[in-house]
Amino acid sequence: MHALVEIKNLSSLSEQEIVRVRGRVFSKKVHGTLLFLILRDGLHTLQVIVVKGKAVAGHAFSDSCYDELRKVENESFIEAIGIVQRTEKPVLACSQQKIELRLIAYTLMSRATLTLPITLKETERAEVAAAIPYGKRLDNRVLDLRTRLSQAIFRVNDGMLGYIQKYLREEEFMEIKTPKLIGGSSEGGAAPFRLDYFGEPACLAQSPQLYKQMVLMGGFKRVFEIGPVFRAEHSHTTRHLTEFVGIDLEMLLDETYQEVIQLLYRLLTSLFTKLNEQYSSEIAFIQAFFHTTPLLFAPELVALTFPEAVALLSASGSTRGEEEDFSTEEEKQLGAIIREQYQTDLYVVTGYPAAVRPFYTFIDPENPTYTYGYDFMLRGMEILSGAQRIHDYKLLSERAAALGIAAHTMSHYLEAFQYGAPPHAGAGMGLERLLRAFLGLPDVRYSSLFPRYPKRLYP
Ligand code: ATP
Repeated sequence: MHALVEIKNLSSLSEQEIVRVRGRVFSKKVHGTLLFLILRDGLHTLQVIVVKGKAVAGHAFSDSCYDELRKVENESFIEAIGIVQRTEKPVLACSQQKIELRLIAYTLMSRATLTLPITLKETERAEVAAAIPYGKRLDNRVLDLRTRLSQAIFRVNDGMLGYIQKYLREEEFMEIKTPKLIGGSSEGGAAPFRLDYFGEPACLAQSPQLYKQMVLMGGFKRVFEIGPVFRAEHSHTTRHLTEFVGIDLEMLLDETYQEVIQLLYRLLTSLFTKLNEQYSSEIAFIQAFFHTTPLLFAPELVALTFPEAVALLSASGSTRGEEEDFSTEEEKQLGAIIREQYQTDLYVVTGYPAAVRPFYTFIDPENPTYTYGYDFMLRGMEILSGAQRIHDYKLLSERAAALGIAAHTMSHYLEAFQYGAPPHAGAGMGLERLLRAFLGLPDVRYSSLFPRYPKRLYP
């Protein structure tokens, strides 16, 4: 049996070696007695040459085999055995440009159907792909995941997840998994998906917020969770999903909540640097596809207070209330101003007004209109929201009551602060939102494997 070699590794082999490769038929072209097949495996493609009737290494291709291959449907999965040859001219259509395979035998392992809902060739170029309704691509997500675009996006996604996990562990964060089935409603804020738990009202967790704080109250110092978050919001935007992957962390503070801001900033800038190095070709392909401007970020933290951000917006003509949260349009506008002034797409706004933050957010003792809450912005879009939390039981209970939250609906959470609670802060960000902003994708649905939004529950 000849060795099975992945298409991406073929260039390390010597000429005339006989190998087995597997892949999907991307395209076929006939030139007289020659058949040129392009085989694809993920992001890698290889030209395979089939010569009718002529024996190679003692193997001749029968007419029927040649005809079968000539007619085989694109996307069919085949195993090819062939001789590695150097190409005379670079094969521009393939990622393996200097190597091709002269076919001596093959097995048609799985034949694709004749009518593909999406042909992968039409998705290769942005202008052509743009004509395919996005819903149709998502209806056929399995095929859509085979496109170069999706292959590149989800490789970067994997790199992102792996790096964040490694980074946080090195910073002595412990990975936790908190329940997603919650009695009552998980946090107040966003609308929950309600369900029946053996006759008791329950919901799907809108965030691990209360639980990660309870774990700190349970004696752990730094924790993080990467897991699903559910929001029953009818948001038909390019930034909202009804289920997304939350990356949440929570840590004890030494002196100030600036510690967590600095840590998050270091995490994000080192993440972007690493991804740019490790996935340069994927990122270049994605950015060329969407004509995205390259990401700018500064190694030193760029932060401004909420009133400073409001002043920048006002100076550029926006009229708004002092304590209103930023609208999507204002986030965009602010992003453009900061890019121009500081040459960065990543920055932090600190000290949000209490009126727009959840009840557990620490109130600024010097100016109680504001809090120790912050958001990170990337390419003019919120990617992370965090805050120092109230750790004093009495204050926390009063604040919950003031916002109309009945104590009995979260007694387990509130009680956790009665037994000695240290100062702490944390943050939550959405993986899909982060990936979307980092890569400059036009819609968060591109960065979810099987997106869930109000109009989609399948596949
Ligand atoms: P937004 O104001 O953008 O709706 P939010 O204030 O509701 O977001 P948080 O509840 O603070 O967001 O969630 C923290 C992070 O989770 C956000 O910064 C974002 O990265 C991500 N996120 C929030 N809601 C969604 C959503 N519906 N779909 C995808 N990601 C989300």
